[in-house]
Amino acid sequence: MTYDLRSMLPEELTALLREHGQPAYRAGQLFSWLHHRQARSYEEMTDLPAALRQTLAGSMPLTTVRMIDRQISRDGTEKYLFAMPDDRLVESVLMRYRFGNSVCISSQVGCRMGCTFCASTLDGLERNLLPSEMLEQIYEIHRTTGEPVKHVVVMGTGEPMDNYDNLVRFLRLLTHEKGMGLSRRAVTVSTCGLPEGIRALAEEGLPVNLALSLHAPEDELRRRLMPIARRYTLAEVIDACRYYYTQTGRQITFEYALIRDVNDRPQDVENLSRLAGPLDAHINLIPVNPVRERGYREPGGAEVQAFKNKLEKKGIHVSIRRVMGRDIDGACGQLRHRRLHDTNQ
Ligand code: SAH
Repeated sequence: MTYDLRSMLPEELTALLREHGQPAYRAGQLFSWLHHRQARSYEEMTDLPAALRQTLAGSMPLTTVRMIDRQISRDGTEKYLFAMPDDRLVESVLMRYRFGNSVCISSQVGCRMGCTFCASTLDGLERNLLPSEMLEQIYEIHRTTGEPVKHVVVMGTGEPMDNYDNLVRFLRLLTHEKGMGLSRRAVTVSTCGLPEGIRALAEEGLPVNLALSLHAPEDELRRRLMPIARRYTLAEVIDACRYYYTQTGRQITFEYALIRDVNDRPQDVENLSRLAGPLDAHINLIPVNPVRERGYREPGGAEVQAFKNKLEKKGIHVSIRRVMGRDIDGACGQLRHRRLHDTNQ
């Protein structure tokens, strides 16, 4: 597969420009325009020869995204709806924390994993996103706000391990010192648990943070909530996580969306601590974001706190995810889903 310019690695840009009779340093300039200065057009690249810019513009259009909607929450969270070059829609979120801005991006247009509590999957998978299309979500938020982006989480719509090659390329570009230069520790990839992908990522020399969307600490319940659990047992997924931990030294996070009377039972505390303890995993509790199309309800604040306390008594590291941006279609995929179905409402 040949990639668009903004998805190319530095050595590929060097080879491309060599074909155009250009010296190697031009590739460095071009890379910087694409990923450091985040140019939207060739016209901006004023230190490149005009003839070269013209040739490139003719054969390789620059991938950019178009902002279709921007919602700003009272707590400072911003939700963006972007159109890709082929008009497909994805959403991204900007969260403002004390330690800096964090951007949550989508890795696919839609998703085919089918988790029953998730709005992103309601319309199925349309296509994978290119590395450039993942980067552009971050760059466009950066351009729009003018504020530095300190953290990136691949936790929006899509399953990153189901778009593995583009994910790895995206991570290399995102953490390249001549681009945004984000530290690998400032990047988190969240997966519903594809063991091959987790193992492969462990060997890429890209020690980013890994979050596993666990949501159920035993196979039977997990199979009811997440179809992917019918393909892989928890033992297989946890083994892959252990491998990731030993290869990269990065602590694993278990995402656990608490659903009232479904996965907040006493035996869930037991099973969860049995999984997290030996792995030294951190558990992130998320009161489930109710999705109209599904019937799940969140436990009350006191119940969430009690669940956390019981885990802590067992020596597990736990945090409760702050609820952000609920006044603006907060849950994954809701903004896009509503937009796609606006005509029916
Ligand atoms: N496919 C990846 C990343 C996208 S989902 C994954 O499964 O991890 C990002 C996170 O949001 C996952 O942990 C997912 O399970 C969670 N999530 C999805 N819908 C949710 C909801 N309604 N309430 C709370 N968390 C939800």
